[in-house]
Amino acid sequence: MIYIVGTVRGLPMISKVGIPVVDAHSHYFSSGTLKAWAERGRTMDSFTSRLNTRTDMKSIEIPDENGDTAQRWVDELDRYGVQAMGVMVGREAYDEFLVTMKRFPGRFIGYANISPFDEDAPEQVRRAARDGLKGIKLYPSSWKDMKVYDEPLYPIYDECKRSGMVVFLHFGITIGGQADLRNGNPIDIQVPSRDYPDLKFVVAHFGAGFFREVLLMQYQADNVYMDSSGSNSWMKYMPYDLDLKQIIRKAVQAGGSHKVLFGTDSTFFPRGWRFNILEAQFKACASLKAEGVLKEEDILKIFGGNVLELTGFKPASTL
Ligand SMILES: [Zn+2]
Repeated sequence: MIYIVGTVRGLPMISKVGIPVVDAHSHYFSSGTLKAWAERGRTMDSFTSRLNTRTDMKSIEIPDENGDTAQRWVDELDRYGVQAMGVMVGREAYDEFLVTMKRFPGRFIGYANISPFDEDAPEQVRRAARDGLKGIKLYPSSWKDMKVYDEPLYPIYDECKRSGMVVFLHFGITIGGQADLRNGNPIDIQVPSRDYPDLKFVVAHFGAGFFREVLLMQYQADNVYMDSSGSNSWMKYMPYDLDLKQIIRKAVQAGGSHKVLFGTDSTFFPRGWRFNILEAQFKACASLKAEGVLKEEDILKIFGGNVLELTGFKPASTL
């Protein structure tokens, strides 16, 4: 198959696995982010110990106030031939991210982290849409006494509907120390997805342990999507054996290839952009293609087409 892809600063935007790729789910942290965590009382020691036992990161670099985080990410994308990356942006990194978007048009799809505990949350959504971000990220697994179908969420959904923002949700297990899994069941999104048929809800990490529930939602709702981001290490905590290939097969059979968005969940340096995640997920999809489960066009949707379609984002290579 031959792809027509544009170039960015003279580089062809075809990834190292041979197809155009857009990463739907990663994170943009600034030096202010880490500072804010420290102020909230999370010590670096306890955080790095959770990273060590639950992720493949042995260390993280604190972004330097004088460093160029934006340029480092763009260099990473160029290195692997990745068109663009979708990033979750916290309030501390927000202003810096706006500058980044202007500096590197078509390389970063922004999603604003929104907390329903902020009184001005709907206003934050409105501002993010005005500033050119394409979605929001909610972290119900870390909320205290709040569900995604509770009243404070509705003005947030209203705003998203008004401005066409996609709603990413982190349900299931989380590295965050403040988790309350009682609020982390993806089944909870069923009622909002019914109340807002025009909104697109994307459940991150295939539900991070609540995979069964995310699959059931595929029967129940047309507007609940899944992202594949990260190592999907939640598989280890299932009472049965699962691997990437089985997950993607089930996801596509239940929802269709238009429901799965590839992501890496890249976060910090020195690890940088997680090419190994792309390799592993692409390999699983190539194997499903060999078995006739996926076609080439399904693979292109999963690795970029779907996120571009949902967000309306124009990657740099098309600008
Ligand atoms: Zn993430």
